Amino acid sequence: MRHFPIFLDTVDKTIVVAGAGECAVAKLRLLLKTEARIVVFDADAEDQVRDWAAQGRVELHLRDLVLADLGGAILVYAAYDDPERDLGVQALAREARVPALVVDNLDASDFITPAIVDRDPVTVAIGTEGTAPVLARAIKAGIEARLPVGLGALARRAKALRPAAEALPKGRARRDFWTRFFFGGEDAEVLLEQAKSQEAQPGHVHFVGAGPGDPELLTLRARKMLHEADVVVYDRLVSPEILELARREARLIEVGKTGFGPSWKQEDINVLLVEEGRNNRVVRLKSGDPGVFGRLDEEVEALDAAGVAYDVTPGITAASAAVAGLGLSFTRRGRNSGLRIITGHDTKGFAEQDWRELARPGAVAAIYMGKKAARFVTGRLMMHGAAPDTPVSIVENASRADQRIIASDLVTLERSLSDVAGPAVLLLGLAPRAAAQQANQWQEAL
Ligand code: SAH
Repeated sequence: MRHFPIFLDTVDKTIVVAGAGECAVAKLRLLLKTEARIVVFDADAEDQVRDWAAQGRVELHLRDLVLADLGGAILVYAAYDDPERDLGVQALAREARVPALVVDNLDASDFITPAIVDRDPVTVAIGTEGTAPVLARAIKAGIEARLPVGLGALARRAKALRPAAEALPKGRARRDFWTRFFFGGEDAEVLLEQAKSQEAQPGHVHFVGAGPGDPELLTLRARKMLHEADVVVYDRLVSPEILELARREARLIEVGKTGFGPSWKQEDINVLLVEEGRNNRVVRLKSGDPGVFGRLDEEVEALDAAGVAYDVTPGITAASAAVAGLGLSFTRRGRNSGLRIITGHDTKGFAEQDWRELARPGAVAAIYMGKKAARFVTGRLMMHGAAPDTPVSIVENASRADQRIIASDLVTLERSLSDVAGPAVLLLGLAPRAAAQQANQWQEAL
């Protein structure tokens, strides 16, 4: 960041503009929004500048700027629109130690004026370091469209309401009041009365499915809850882009359980949820869907026992994202009339399944946490008569930018998994479409 944005107090200050032509008019229009005393120097002046002078909005001197004119000025604009004369102004400004902006000369300027969205007292300044005015204008238009024209009036109103709002209990009550005031278009007096009559609200735990990683696969409700959370308790598999969506003031607590790093015990997570959930709006963010291999029941039971309210928002489970990555369907008429969602291991070690059913031709299963159990799964399935070339698709980092699909089969599964470092779902009985096509091509070539 070469140019550091600041907001300068202009009350009782002097800003000098050298130039009264067209180029100066554009700068003056902006400067007239400030509360500074504006003094303009030029041998000749546009009618517009003369009008402003007649109205007392600027002070106009029909001569060139000299050093003595800069005494007491906080800024000077070199806007004669003549490179040489403007550089002359810059030299004077250096001597007088007043920061100068030289029009159309970034390198000679001490500061630049940003593009501005004006909802006084709310001001948004947009800078692109002079590189891309088109971009600045587009961003400005976008922000203008999003900030209601009446926002300035609301903000001024807010200042007057502050003492009354400060009497509300700190935290959620106060925050809700301001959110509804600014964005709900609700009447402040009514809101204040309501807020005062409400007792301190008890806490709540929202179990929220974060989906497989791509933030676009979050539900609208998940987004909303993240925006409103006081505390977010999340697992290691939740992607950073999704945590970005949490309210800025929210406390984020990671309770990683997977992998080899320090991990939380389930009982400690339960205690944490009960403690935080008594008075806060807690979002318990779980990857995928909270109800799929997410230990949801254990946490829910702890909250129930402690009398803390909760609700559950589903999410897209990893298997759904994985099969979507393949562009395939889990179920297919004539092939499989059911789908199994299984885990490679459970609390007791490798998980036993109905292997006979799974070994039948056409059976389809999504295997979670299957990387380390691959050899076990292959062994069990072949023991129950599965063909060695039964397809297995490995989908690593489903839905994420680094998603990888590996076509494998039962006998090569373990080897195919050797360099899979991210979370992966194994799709038993499904071959990626591209691989299926490739296999056909090879057969044709033979
Ligand atoms: N509740 C989660 C599953 C948690 S168990 C869900 O519904 O998706 C953790 C396992 O989920 C991982 O071992 C892996 O098998 C799978 N998983 C989670 N995210 C994944 C992703 N983005 N891509 C592939 N597999 C994923």
